[in-house]
Amino acid sequence: DIALDRAKSSCSARPVWFDEGMERALIVHSEIEQGIRYGLEHAHFIPYFEPQVELLTGEIVGFEVLARWDHPLSGLIEPDRFIPVAEEHGLIGRLSEQVILAALIQAANWDPAIKLSVNISPSQLTDSWLAQRIVRLLAEAGFPAERLVVEITESSLFADLDLARTIVTSLKNQGIRLALDDFGTGFSSLAHLRSLPFDVIKIDRSFVSKLVDDPESAAIVRAVTTLAEAIRVPVTVEGIEDAATHAAVAGFGCAVGQGWYFGKPMSGDQATALLRSRHSVPTPTVSARRSG
Ligand code: C2E
Ligand code: MG
Ligand code: MG
Ligand code: MG
Repeated sequence: DIALDRAKSSCSARPVWFDEGMERALIVHSEIEQGIRYGLEHAHFIPYFEPQVELLTGEIVGFEVLARWDHPLSGLIEPDRFIPVAEEHGLIGRLSEQVILAALIQAANWDPAIKLSVNISPSQLTDSWLAQRIVRLLAEAGFPAERLVVEITESSLFADLDLARTIVTSLKNQGIRLALDDFGTGFSSLAHLRSLPFDVIKIDRSFVSKLVDDPESAAIVRAVTTLAEAIRVPVTVEGIEDAATHAAVAGFGCAVGQGWYFGKPMSGDQATALLRSRHSVPTPTVSARRSG
């Protein structure tokens, strides 16, 4: 049987299909999954807060909430290490809710002008109860819906655009704002911009970090800002790391920015202290762009 022979020979031509590295990776993976379940039970997933500032004044206008795993043995673990595993095992909903509720409670007594932006994974946008869940968290924390921004990425819209649209509409009906995260990294961005009621467009860090030395990245950021202005949606710029980038994006007319230049993600207590002291974050230096 020729087909069978061919199958056999193609099989034997492959390398050993379960090597030590892969086995190790699987063990680590399931250890992380078990760890996440344990961490969820013990409320080890906590919010960190990254300041968002008005670019012209340096005034803090909000914080993005970023999950951290406060691991009893390993210390703080960043989301890249656990969010994909949580997504794969259907735990991302519980995890996000734990982080969001703690963030809302922390921020409930902050200046009412301060908004909170939270991240929603693609798989959460296939949960038809998402809006109700978020509304329940808001009620539990006593946090007004108008101060909450929900960030979704374009890839969230692929699975089921109609369901996504339904969920987004119920969020909006509650007064919750909607941001399109990591703009520029997905597909058919312009179509999505028109079909869903976004209140903010977040320009992805990948364009921003190279902006000062790379004219094409600068052109993209400038063009997106102009486009957003035309449809009356303000932009938030991610990943501002230095004064030159701050000056450049402020010059393009971008309204709000975030990044390590203004402040790295910090604990809830640190954010509370920062707001209390309001020691100003940097304002743009005039013509900081390098000449040649
Ligand atoms: P994101 O929403 O695009 O968040 C921005 C990421 O960029 C954060 O990383 C932030 O720390 C980092 N960042 C901000 N400013 C700078 C900068 O100036 N320079 C550099 N090099 N990096 C900067 P983080 O905290 O590691 O989060 C990674 C991603 O994990 C987030 O990307 C978000 O998609 C996801 N994520 C975080 N928390 C949650 C959560 O509670 N639920 C869900 N579903 N996803 C979350
Ligand atoms: Mg990080
Ligand atoms: Mg985000
Ligand atoms: Mg982002």
